[in-house]
Amino acid sequence: MRLNDELNDTFRLTEAQKNALKKLGVRTAKDLLYHFPFRYEQGGSESTVAGLAAGQEASIIGTLEKLETKKSWRRKIPVSEGYIRDATGRIKCRWFNQPYIAKMYSEGVVVKATGKVSGSGEKLYLANPQLQKISPTETGLFASQEHSSKKSSGRPSSSTRIFSQNVPAAPGLFAIYPESRGISSLWFRSAIKKLLWSIKDDTLHKDPVPADMLKKYNLPTLKTALVWIHQPNEIKQAEAARKRFAFEEVFLIQLERGIQRQTAEKEKSFIVEAEVGDFVRDFPFSATSAQTRAIGAVLQDMHSGHPMGRLLEGDVGSGKTAVAATAVYAVVCTRPEGQNFGTLQAAYMAPTEILAKQHFDSFIKFFERHPINIGLITGSGCYKFPSKVSRDKITNISRAQLLKWVAGGEIPILLGTHALIQKSVQFKHLALVIIDEQHRFGTNQRRKLARKEKRLPHLLSMTATPIPRTLALTIYGDLDLTLLDEMPPGRKPVITEIVAPKKREGAYKKMREDLAEGRQAYVICPRIEEPDTEKAFALQAKSVKEEAKRLKKEIFSEYEIGILHSKLKTKEKDEIMQKFANKEIDILVATSVVEVGVNVPNATMIFIEGAERFGLAQLHQLRGRVVRSEHQAYCFVCPESRGEQTLARLKALTAAKNGFELAEQDLLQRGAGTLAGGKQWGISDVGMEALKNLKLVEAARAEALEMIKKDPALSRHLLLAEVLQNRDQQLHFE
Ligand code: ADP
Ligand code: MG
Repeated sequence: MRLNDELNDTFRLTEAQKNALKKLGVRTAKDLLYHFPFRYEQGGSESTVAGLAAGQEASIIGTLEKLETKKSWRRKIPVSEGYIRDATGRIKCRWFNQPYIAKMYSEGVVVKATGKVSGSGEKLYLANPQLQKISPTETGLFASQEHSSKKSSGRPSSSTRIFSQNVPAAPGLFAIYPESRGISSLWFRSAIKKLLWSIKDDTLHKDPVPADMLKKYNLPTLKTALVWIHQPNEIKQAEAARKRFAFEEVFLIQLERGIQRQTAEKEKSFIVEAEVGDFVRDFPFSATSAQTRAIGAVLQDMHSGHPMGRLLEGDVGSGKTAVAATAVYAVVCTRPEGQNFGTLQAAYMAPTEILAKQHFDSFIKFFERHPINIGLITGSGCYKFPSKVSRDKITNISRAQLLKWVAGGEIPILLGTHALIQKSVQFKHLALVIIDEQHRFGTNQRRKLARKEKRLPHLLSMTATPIPRTLALTIYGDLDLTLLDEMPPGRKPVITEIVAPKKREGAYKKMREDLAEGRQAYVICPRIEEPDTEKAFALQAKSVKEEAKRLKKEIFSEYEIGILHSKLKTKEKDEIMQKFANKEIDILVATSVVEVGVNVPNATMIFIEGAERFGLAQLHQLRGRVVRSEHQAYCFVCPESRGEQTLARLKALTAAKNGFELAEQDLLQRGAGTLAGGKQWGISDVGMEALKNLKLVEAARAEALEMIKKDPALSRHLLLAEVLQNRDQQLHFE
């Protein structure tokens, strides 16, 4: 069998298994080998009674109690029963058809019982456990669990050494796989075992990670790692294997990004040259020093003759738009090379129509002293400023007209949603692309946008999504980073309060006061509907629909309440947001869809229900919705439970300086799962695990950069070049 062979040909799969594998995206032998277990269960070494779960293989050391033999009433076979008790409790043992058990052992004797935990709920029992007597002098071994987990190496685990006479070596660990209906961990274990034996070609020995690198970081080879991740003898092996795959993944991503960066750096781009001092002085505020630094970096990049690739990272409200507008200004003040008329062009892409419109409005303000055409293209219409008839009005124009003006260069600034990157949109001299809240926008997309140009436009990517440094280093490895780490002055920090579920009234009272003064509020709920339709959630989690009804009926009857969630159509969402922005709605009850931002400066309060269900970084972003005004803003976070941990976590919100800090705390406390899905970043679960480890990420990055420097075309690492090529193809197929 070979790595690329289809599984169907080797295994006689049932229909259910076929479907299950398809759902998991497992098609070939290789896919199966890379379907990693998500945890392991100890087959032989000890567990404690507390914490046992049905289905698990467990060994308990304890004393036997209440041994007796009965006849089962239904099948008339003898059943021996008893209990084994350890420091944490007791569990029933049952032996079918082994009447002698009760005679062989006496009560109070210390044994190790190994068997499968069966039954359910309160009625768990060990089925047909094997018993091994342990002499009472050895009962100090109740502590042996600690031993074996602390120091395990290639040697037999401590328990086997001490027990050598009485207890055989631990049968090892069982891999537990992410299952789906129709296919079990048991199937995966045996299928993978078969595969590891039967793969005949030498692909398993072709390790893309160079041997010296493996040695340097003490990582297992590909073949060893595959065996260790699926069939570890001890947890250390599984950990080493996972570390290796994580390293490999981050290393490959870094190579990819490094090569992209290298390619981009070699390309030619427009030389943008403009004096922006007056433009900045015309801001209705004075720029923060972080904004000034960012503008400086962007101008320098765009002056180099090579395409800029820069990420501007700043919390909501840190003033990214002003930086973007200045970059655009510099571009539209620059003439195309060898031309004494016209200007270079800039495109600005926003994730939603509302945001695109909002940016259109703010650009009109930023450019009000400069006679320049600004266009807006969205799915539902096209606009231009200024209108021909009146110099201070926006006009609605046809799409064809807009496209003509953009292609002719008469509209130098075009804003829009992804309608902006459709084929029909052609620029004359596109020199700068700005992407707002877009996670990835690569060289290829840039090239597509600039179809007519031989030169690659500059790229300024902007984000307020707080992600930890390791993730930023990984996914944005091809970009230079600028942090806007300073808020404009004069903003009053949001007052954040943790509200006990029974003390909502206090918060409502404060909200009522500010609503009476004309302010507006968000109420965020974890769910859209009531539990019937979303059983996965615990019963008490508040839903948008019910909470909106309750607030209208019992709390804020005199105010207009609207709802917003992801199941609404785009048009409905836009209408609701528009109403909220126009103050036709006072209180907007929503799911976290409001997270990616809409600017309603008059909304100064946010009440977050079920707060412990959100990551800290996400809470911080939600809170960012209300930092946009001169008025004092409030954020009430209300958890459903009052656990110590919950409180401690939420308290971090009141102390945090910025979202990136919180994202890092999320990662360390709650794991990579809180980073809203690795899929969106194109990183596997194992890769995401690695992001907890800054050292590993930095090492993989340093190695990748070093390699590209020495061997830019990877001509001495053909295997790596091939793997990257395949990755690239996979990405393009998706
Ligand atoms: P971001 O896009 O980073 O979330 P915006 O660019 O929308 O933030 O800016 C948020 C608000 O802050 C806007 O109303 C903007 O006019 C204002 N603002 C930006 N920079 C400053 C500054 N230096 N001083 C005062 N207000 C500013
Ligand atoms: Mg913004």
